[in-house]
Amino acid sequence: MKQKPDIKSMNLAELTEFVTEAGQKPFRAKQLYQWMHQKMSVSIDEMTNLSAAFRESLKEEATYTVLKQVDVQISKRDGTRKYLFLLEDGNMVESVFMRYKTGNSVCISSQAGCRMGCRFCASALNGLARNLLPSEMLEQIYRISADTKERISNVVVMGTGEPLDNYDNLLRFIELLCNEDGLHISQRNVTVSTCGIVPKILELAHKKLQITLAISLHAADQQKRKELMPIANRYGLEDLITACQFYFDMTGRRITFEYSLLAGVNDSDGDADLLAKLLLGMNCHVNLIPVNPVKESGFGSPDKESVADFRRRLEQRGIQVTVRRELGGDIDAACGQLRKKYMEKGYIFETNLANL
Ligand code: SAH
Repeated sequence: MKQKPDIKSMNLAELTEFVTEAGQKPFRAKQLYQWMHQKMSVSIDEMTNLSAAFRESLKEEATYTVLKQVDVQISKRDGTRKYLFLLEDGNMVESVFMRYKTGNSVCISSQAGCRMGCRFCASALNGLARNLLPSEMLEQIYRISADTKERISNVVVMGTGEPLDNYDNLLRFIELLCNEDGLHISQRNVTVSTCGIVPKILELAHKKLQITLAISLHAADQQKRKELMPIANRYGLEDLITACQFYFDMTGRRITFEYSLLAGVNDSDGDADLLAKLLLGMNCHVNLIPVNPVKESGFGSPDKESVADFRRRLEQRGIQVTVRRELGGDIDAACGQLRKKYMEKGYIFETNLANL
């Protein structure tokens, strides 16, 4: 059976073609686009400036992607909200809403599951189910925006999944997210986090987007990195750093290096020195993240003093560092934990989709 086109993943040019092929005037495409991406409509029936006949034909001929909210956990400490959404095919993804002084931020998933296998990550435990469509990435933001009724100024692609393993859909997502007829988020307020797929970093550099690239480094030593992150077996540290340098040269955007601190694994003085040496002279910034312990992985988080020591040691060597504020510490905030909990409970089956 031929798949119906997913209109929420189309850019305006594609939508115009689709609309005119359906016998409509080209300007209808922009109206439809704004219903989807500005007003964030949950159904085609709401689109009252389109004729009833056209709306009916859209319902027949197109897929209109809307995510269903399965659960939300709200932190009493800081208002962080963790959402679990259901996709059309029964898969689930999670997304997080966070408040910062600089504005509200949404962290979205780029895949249902992940095949990168990082040892400390809950999302890796069940492997990859499938890539998310651009519409499904956007919808996480649209549903959260509608639910909170708050303006969202920053988007980070740091939830479940490896965004550069879903490269084409990621690029389309960014195009639609930043488009002036949609949410119109500035590229500078979009961060994409990758475990380090070198050829894709190079490809992305050529696009010269103004987004921030965040690299999950977690070790400044190739051997140690290989033990934590299987992707390091494919692409070594040296090539990764060269690719980052190239990204900076092409875009002028400062790279963020994420470094999850795992007690007794990568948090020693020697580890800090090695990291400083690796990054010295680069226009970059290090984000230290005390690891969120995941039951199955057995990694623990260093105490506050060790984190402060590690930070000081980097700063003394000229590296810019921030320690990620722990938001949502009282909810299942670590990547993939909420989704995993539901999957373990077998909460969602095809047969009870209708009840949601
Ligand atoms: N695949 C991408 C984006 C998703 S993971 C990437 O690897 O960057 C987002 C970030 O959270 C990554 O830096 C990842 O290494 C980190 N992370 C995953 N599990 C974590 C945990 N349990 N505690 C702290 N950070 C974790």
